Amino acid sequence: MAKTEQLLENNKQYAEGKATHKPNHPGKQPIRPSKRVAVVACMDARIDVEDLLGLQTGEAHIIRNAGGVVTEDAIRCLIISHHLLDTNEIILIHHTRCGMLAFTDDLLKAGLEGDPGSEKLLGQATARKFTSTGQSSSSPQAFHAFRGPIEPLDSPPNVQSQERLEWDVRRGMSIIHHHPWIPTSGPDAVSVRGFIYDVDTGKLNEVAYPGQMGG
Ligand SMILES: [Zn+2]
Repeated sequence: MAKTEQLLENNKQYAEGKATHKPNHPGKQPIRPSKRVAVVACMDARIDVEDLLGLQTGEAHIIRNAGGVVTEDAIRCLIISHHLLDTNEIILIHHTRCGMLAFTDDLLKAGLEGDPGSEKLLGQATARKFTSTGQSSSSPQAFHAFRGPIEPLDSPPNVQSQERLEWDVRRGMSIIHHHPWIPTSGPDAVSVRGFIYDVDTGKLNEVAYPGQMGG
């Protein structure tokens, strides 16, 4: 059975309220992740990847950023994870109520630079006084906010937000599938599966691939 399948079984236990992760130091372990799994997940405070997948220390690489987006840095990590440290299953995790649904790259950049309308909109979207810096910057090149019309921060899941999350999971899967240095077929193949984690229920729901990546 693929390791991902075992982890999905662990997730069912977690969603039912069972403890899945042992917190104590396990003693000396090898450098290679023993389950040969690499996870890319959002940094959201409500997500604990080890707990929700029932992963123990030493079993997986866990790469986190805002959105769980397959960025250039995530790709860098995945290439190292596979080619040097022998992982062969990739799991992408986006989630409901993600903050990346609540802004666009242009809006955040304009707000940071001092556009009053953008400052006001960001303040409304986040229920926090958004304060412009009045400065421009060439980095980061992108914030990777999810495509589509923005919604207030932490809005309950709806058809539109579900679709926007699925688009971005598929975009990440597509990037991985087409990266020349991440083999997804042949003798050294890596598998890729994408999920949306429901922060209200603790459950993972798989995203079908291929499929729509925008609308
Ligand atoms: Zn998030």
